[in-house]
Amino acid sequence: MSDDPLHNLHLQSSGNTADGGFRLSVAADETRNDGVALVFAGMADILEREDAPNYVEFDLHRGVGKRPVSVCVRWLDRPTPHELRRTAEEHSMQLRTVNQHLHAVIERVRALHTSMTDNDGYLRCRTCRQYTPCDTVRTLDRI
Ligand SMILES: [Zn+2]
Repeated sequence: MSDDPLHNLHLQSSGNTADGGFRLSVAADETRNDGVALVFAGMADILEREDAPNYVEFDLHRGVGKRPVSVCVRWLDRPTPHELRRTAEEHSMQLRTVNQHLHAVIERVRALHTSMTDNDGYLRCRTCRQYTPCDTVRTLDRI
């Protein structure tokens, strides 16, 4: 028996990923009493059992003096953690742009409702003529 834990797995492809990883694609026969294949099968079972929509991560603490690792098991047809983060960042940028636009609109409305002194010396909104702050400005102050 080989010392290589992958010796019973059928390597289909391998190579570096665009985000700095290395990917092995293997076919594992779960019916064989092979340690690595059983571990992979167990990880897939956890993914199913936990009803994880994308992936399950296992933090592996290897002992004193050894660098711990994280093992990510995901459905092959679902996004990687990297892809999910990139999508979240894109949504965040879109929301930031919308927020900036909304802020600009609020400031334009606020500028229309600045106060002015009426003939009796009272401060009134120059647009809706209410005593200041008018309902519009009070509403904008709560946003
Ligand atoms: Zn007003």
